[in-house]
Amino acid sequence: MGILEDNRHLEEIDKRYIWHPFTQMKEWIEDTPIIITEGKECFLKDIYGRWYLDGVSSLWVNIFGHRKKEIDDAIKEQLDNIAHSTMLGLSNVPAIKLAEKLMKIVNSSFIPHPSRLSKIFYSDNGSTAVEVALKMSFQYWQHKGIEGKHAFLSLNNAYHGDTIGAVSVGGVGIFHEAFGPLLFKTFNAPSPYCYRCELGKTFPECSFACLAKMEEVLSLHAGEIAGLIIEPLIQAAGGMITSPPGYLRGVRELCTKYNILMIADEVATGFGRTGKMFACEHEEVVPDLLCLSKGITGGYMPLAVTVATDELYDAFLGEFRELKTFFHGHSYTGNPLACAAAIACLDISGKEEILDRMKNKIRILESWLSDVSELGHVGEGRNAGMMAGVELVKDKESKQAYDWSEKIGWRVAYHARENGVFIRPLGNVIVLMPPLIISEQNLNKLLQVVKNAIIAVTE
Ligand SMILES: *Cc1c(COP(=O)(O)O)cnc(C)c1O
Repeated sequence: MGILEDNRHLEEIDKRYIWHPFTQMKEWIEDTPIIITEGKECFLKDIYGRWYLDGVSSLWVNIFGHRKKEIDDAIKEQLDNIAHSTMLGLSNVPAIKLAEKLMKIVNSSFIPHPSRLSKIFYSDNGSTAVEVALKMSFQYWQHKGIEGKHAFLSLNNAYHGDTIGAVSVGGVGIFHEAFGPLLFKTFNAPSPYCYRCELGKTFPECSFACLAKMEEVLSLHAGEIAGLIIEPLIQAAGGMITSPPGYLRGVRELCTKYNILMIADEVATGFGRTGKMFACEHEEVVPDLLCLSKGITGGYMPLAVTVATDELYDAFLGEFRELKTFFHGHSYTGNPLACAAAIACLDISGKEEILDRMKNKIRILESWLSDVSELGHVGEGRNAGMMAGVELVKDKESKQAYDWSEKIGWRVAYHARENGVFIRPLGNVIVLMPPLIISEQNLNKLLQVVKNAIIAVTE
């Protein structure tokens, strides 16, 4: 078979056998899939040899680019020792070394140094990191002998993953509503979505009416609530919704005041995305549980951690017969190859001054966002460091949204694709989330192509 026939065969087999995530397969099979064979730095190559700028970091995971030598080498070296062994009843060298390095970084990032965060529980994706945090909080109160704390408090527009526990604390209707009858009880607080304030207020005149609403729920129901879960600074999958400054600290204060655990889901924001190592740092907030995944291995391998405080961990200590053990674990927990990749990533972060070098790129991104905000169908451009969203609106004056069926975000993404940029929208929000190491030149290219696409599709 020639190369062309080989490629057609791959496309056909993909359509015949693969069910893609978050994808309407009827559309997928009517289209020609882009099949990636290779990556280099911020680019992806398909089977026809076409290159695409990876504008969403391969779904937000890639930080240092593709085929980063140090990470490649670390995995190859670990492969010569062992690929996988279990953490249930055994430990492994990369998992131990990573825990030490990660704890050092967590402790130097959070104020006060060292923070109360001190114990690492491994799993393998963002959703499991969240499940672990939810189950730990739930059981913590039982171990403390406090009854009735059976529910969680979560935010409208929140996204914490796709497993059922994570969906229970999710608040994105389009993804989550269908599963309503399966979900456990949660209390909801307003999304800090100033552009479309649920309470019809304007920041800062509102004096955080959304926090007052949250406090109302807590004052009535804190006795039933084990913990609050939040994406610090930016609700990512909900539409790149950035919270106003001071909001996160207000949430921390409410959790402390009403004695519920604060779970920070930094699966998307962790490891430098927002311009600091962790988003919580921007407001000097220390959560009781911290969930990390996406960027942890630089986008190489599935790995996640849930970091807990000593106080939480200590509550699970007891005699074997007392059954205080945390009965949770996954087959690939603490996978040595993934941990080796993560160690290499933390070393790169330390050496290459990634955060310092991001500063100018964030400025470029922010000035582009204010530039495109002038366009006739851009409602708002917003960002937290190198995570950005451009919300397209049908009518700028009334903020009327495009109907879902218009696929406006997708049309912009397809246009960009024709011009060598791969992006994936969230409804009407165009998402930009390039690898943190993107060069200024490639960042400018990404921004130019996306701006042209927005103009071409909306004007
Ligand atoms: C992506 C994401 C998750 C889920 O992570 P998966 O690895 O896709 O399971 C959870 N929380 C946040 C904030 C995320 O962005």
